[in-house]
Amino acid sequence: MPAEVAPGGRGGGELGRPESAALRSSGGGRTAPLVLTGKSADPPSVDGGGVFVGIVSKNDENSDPRADRYLLQNVARKLLLTPFSPPPHNPEKKMYPHAVCSCLWWLARGAEAVEVYYSPARGRARYRGLMTCSSVWACPVCASHITERRADEIRAALASLRDKGGSAAFATFTVSHAHEDALETVLAGFLAAFRYLTSKPSYKRIRARSGVLGFIRVLEVTHGRNGWHVHAHVLYCFSSVLSPAEVQCFEDDLYPLWESAAARSGLSMARRYGLEVKQAYGSVEEYLAKFGRGPRWDISREMTKGHIKRGRSIAGLKHLTPWELLAAAGAGDRHCGGLFREYVGRFSGKAQLYWSPGLRELLLPVTAPATDAELVAEAVADEFLSGKISSSDWESVKRAVGRAEVLRLVEVASGSWDMVAAYLARVLVDFPPFAPRDRGALSEGFRAMLVQLHVDQIERNRWRGSVSSAEGVA
Ligand SMILES: [Zn+2]
Repeated sequence: MPAEVAPGGRGGGELGRPESAALRSSGGGRTAPLVLTGKSADPPSVDGGGVFVGIVSKNDENSDPRADRYLLQNVARKLLLTPFSPPPHNPEKKMYPHAVCSCLWWLARGAEAVEVYYSPARGRARYRGLMTCSSVWACPVCASHITERRADEIRAALASLRDKGGSAAFATFTVSHAHEDALETVLAGFLAAFRYLTSKPSYKRIRARSGVLGFIRVLEVTHGRNGWHVHAHVLYCFSSVLSPAEVQCFEDDLYPLWESAAARSGLSMARRYGLEVKQAYGSVEEYLAKFGRGPRWDISREMTKGHIKRGRSIAGLKHLTPWELLAAAGAGDRHCGGLFREYVGRFSGKAQLYWSPGLRELLLPVTAPATDAELVAEAVADEFLSGKISSSDWESVKRAVGRAEVLRLVEVASGSWDMVAAYLARVLVDFPPFAPRDRGALSEGFRAMLVQLHVDQIERNRWRGSVSSAEGVA
């Protein structure tokens, strides 16, 4: 098995590289809040005070969001390499490490070398010939790609809705929870409550009365002092423009139904937090102005980037997003590492984004819904092959924690391979590939296992793609 630099371990690792956006703890001081870097982050100081751990200051000129994501993926790989326990109904089931452990790490089946493609139009480089996991819950790299595309879809759907004379409202459903509540219990209860809510005749009557065309639901979770906070953002699409009073009326009608649906699952809530419906204004820009979001944050991102954005203060308590748990684990917090594992174990297989039946077809051009795996593998029209890295050199790149660096160098050189070639020459000296005999039989067996794992994952994703549209009841 190739060597991997442990978090905070051997110097020169990705986690310790000063030039990369490295994991740093805020140290609990009164310094500026540390946040996830990149365009997906909330503006700092939204709720005053900082979260106790983050990745790097947003103002850090050297910050590279993609390097952060690869770095977080390394932490996820370490945390998820130990397979989960088999399900109770099938204790004999053979379990494998999570697919994120092989994502952009091992060569895909049949690939001879790692290929780097560059798209001049986008100014972006990317890998081909490597396995990918398409896990929106566990993989920071795939999640970024998938949610960015899903956000585009929601943006297009909102524009189409506006053209049709409709409007949207942004609802947040939550339930009360306590520190000792297991995520499994809260999540199962929450989803059951939502399914029950949407199947009630009284709910359907409210829908019809308000002219609801459908909704898009995003599932989210954060962790705070009071344990797991499972919640859903639901973007309701209406056939006409609702006045603020009508939106308030919609919320007031919906709340008792949600409260009783949750009670049926043994969950409770406070009126103040259980349900909130805000008008999503005619344009995304108006929404931005209304809620004071940064210029690169809009409702589409709010919907799909939920688990990427910075944890916020809810009822005065700090909540950490899964990626922040991962960052904390990378900084050495074993408890947060355990929480991240628990989260992945419970959320894997759940649909992050769900469109109520018919809405997608109504608002977007008629195309089959792309699965997450298809989005990750999607071809870019103008991209060309910049260069190839042999499987043996790739081992050195991985040991040098240079996966993000290779892409950056290709982009800096506008697709030319020269800088990467120089980089590879340096890396091969500093991190020579293992001699063949050092790899050993175990490593080959391990590799075979991961290949199988990847195949299983793709099959599961396909299956999920075909059933996720049937999960909720509108
Ligand atoms: Zn991935």
